[in-house]
Amino acid sequence: MPEILIPFNKPYATGAEFAYMQQAVANSHLSGDGPFTKRCHTFLQESLGVPKALLTTSCTHALEMSALLLDIQPGDEVICPSFTFVTSIGAFTLRGAKPVFADIRPDTLNIDESKLEAHITPRTKAIVVVHYAGVACEMDAIMAIAAKHGVPVVEDNAHALFSRYKGRFTGTFGAMATQSFHETKNFTCGEGGALLLNDPALFERAEIIREKGTNRSRFFRGQVDKYTWVDLGSSYLPSELLAAYLWAQFEAADDIQRRRKTIWDRYHAHVPEWAAQHGVQLMSLPDDREQSYHMYWMLLPSLAARTTLIAYLRELGIYAPFHYLPLHLSDMGRKFGGVEGDCPVTENVSDRLIRLPLYNAMTEDEQMRVIAALFAFEGW
Ligand SMILES: *Cc1c(COP(=O)(O)O)cnc(C)c1O
Repeated sequence: MPEILIPFNKPYATGAEFAYMQQAVANSHLSGDGPFTKRCHTFLQESLGVPKALLTTSCTHALEMSALLLDIQPGDEVICPSFTFVTSIGAFTLRGAKPVFADIRPDTLNIDESKLEAHITPRTKAIVVVHYAGVACEMDAIMAIAAKHGVPVVEDNAHALFSRYKGRFTGTFGAMATQSFHETKNFTCGEGGALLLNDPALFERAEIIREKGTNRSRFFRGQVDKYTWVDLGSSYLPSELLAAYLWAQFEAADDIQRRRKTIWDRYHAHVPEWAAQHGVQLMSLPDDREQSYHMYWMLLPSLAARTTLIAYLRELGIYAPFHYLPLHLSDMGRKFGGVEGDCPVTENVSDRLIRLPLYNAMTEDEQMRVIAALFAFEGW
């Protein structure tokens, strides 16, 4: 195999990260919830308009906190798309929930709102939606169904920080939402995440769950005179060193999003004609939405075409991977009763999807090599 010249993703640094980490060391506060963590909380709250944001050690951990906040018990059902990352639902099965996999729309690859209501039963305790590739789900329809049945919505917003639906930021619709700052996301500190809370009734318990089930946060604010074990919980807060790294990226948020938009727009300026000629479906954005420029995906005509294209690009040193395998057909999904045919769109799309390289520091020259390689592909 030739070496990879153009990776799918490259972790990005603005240049300010180490200076802020040094400041964190100088502050003599390396554990969680120091000044950099607080800056990150305020940034998320103010830029999105969410009443409370809490940094976590990962998006997975923010999802685990969601499951604890919703008191998920063995036998409860949680609905989520089959086409998503494992932990969108794994965090709930960890509490004993039974996953109920819903199919996706063939255009946005988001949960199909028209099939959602059929999955709701008296045991449904949550609906997890994923704004795939940073394009928002059909939130009007989803929130109406959720309200009608009194089921809370959790938004897995890992791809979609700064995406909007009808002008409103994703992550502000559900009772709660989760972010990821894993190195593959738009903003990173290596491994990290956040829980966004839109329901004030959840604030106090979220702080307790995040602090090992103790009321330590209230103690530090002087609201109680001793701190003790009061609830379920774990250690979900990241160190200040990670928050300092992340803060450098948040400060550069406009620049990072501008870079990604430039790259996404350049793909979308060059690829559509070629795609139409070869029966390739491109990612698209409904008119009432704004995206986060997280990803550029394409659906090829067949699994065989995709396999050949991935191998062809890899020979040229370009890494363009596929994405999620249907969760209902995974080993775990099958244990919960998943079988072929449960989610036909997911099964079909999962075989044909490819993602093009897209990272903050990608140069025009690198990107034009990817585009030229696509145009020269004759493996149809
Ligand atoms: C990346 C990702 C996660 C997990 O994020 P971590 O921070 O690695 O736990 C969850 N859901 C989606 C949709 C993701 O893309």
